[in-house]
Amino acid sequence: MRAALMRSPGELEVTEVENPRCPPGGALLKVLACAVCGTDVKMLRNGHRDLAYPRIPGHEVTAEVVEVNAASSELAPGDRVQVWPGEACGRCRYCLSERDHLCPHIRIMGFNMDGGMAEQVAVGGLSRLVPIGDADPLHLTLAEPLACALNAQIKTGVGPEDTVLILGGGPMGCINAALARYRGADKVLMTEADPRRLEVAPTGLFDRRSLPDRSSVREMVLGETQGMGADVLIPCTPNVRLDRDLLSLLAPGGRLCVFSGPRKEDSPIPVDMREVHYRELTLAGSYGQSSRQDRWAVDMLSHGELDLRWMLTATFPLEHAEEAFEHASSLRGMKAVVTI
Ligand SMILES: [Zn+2]
Ligand SMILES: [Zn+2]
Repeated sequence: MRAALMRSPGELEVTEVENPRCPPGGALLKVLACAVCGTDVKMLRNGHRDLAYPRIPGHEVTAEVVEVNAASSELAPGDRVQVWPGEACGRCRYCLSERDHLCPHIRIMGFNMDGGMAEQVAVGGLSRLVPIGDADPLHLTLAEPLACALNAQIKTGVGPEDTVLILGGGPMGCINAALARYRGADKVLMTEADPRRLEVAPTGLFDRRSLPDRSSVREMVLGETQGMGADVLIPCTPNVRLDRDLLSLLAPGGRLCVFSGPRKEDSPIPVDMREVHYRELTLAGSYGQSSRQDRWAVDMLSHGELDLRWMLTATFPLEHAEEAFEHASSLRGMKAVVTI
């Protein structure tokens, strides 16, 4: 079959690879669409903590079932599904407490297992497949990134009366903004230097935008919150150093979610624990999402509770997968999707 293959950092080639086999207890899928994530772009440039080469990238996948290798299954050939990218053990305390993305044995599609930028993908574990019915398979590729945002906003309890400050207006910044709106946040503030980045964003996605330099962010946040600070801070770009300065943008009782993977050279970061104590700040981390959060995200998109179709600004056939990566890294538009 044809697949996009990463052989080493910076090298992506669409080539012929061996067909995957349907694993016992799993399914073989014909890929319909696979969106390019910021992490895919980062991986192609610099590698990644969880990446092993050579690798077919892609973890934001919708597909059609070709074959099921299990005695009993609710899934049948022809069914359309979204794929939760994790393959967890299903037995450890994390798996048993709906935190399967923290499973110590987890493998992730597109990182340490082959992903969706291929004609077919094999998936072990049918519970990873979420039926999407007649919903648009391109739109449903956004369920995975939406579920990442859900994880972050459940951790930080985003809700009514909150002022949410989002750093970075790329796809993850915009998805977080849309979700914060959906969860009833009082105000959504955003920092983004490049106005082109937000050209496609619908009006009303955020209340105010500022440039990412510290003084203008501070001015905006204090101006919008009667000098109190933001209730929730979600950095959606690695280009802002998480430091003491940033913590001071939080109101008392504020919550910071370390959402975008901080750069190695920026870590470790000294944090003033006195500030955390006296101002009752919460520091939360989020990386990926649980299979349950993934199902919620599929529900939200397939039932039209949230419409993120405006984010799909370019589609490319598999043979042009490299252009999809270029689109995703160019800061023109938002999400690039490879269709197969
Ligand atoms: Zn992703
Ligand atoms: Zn487990």
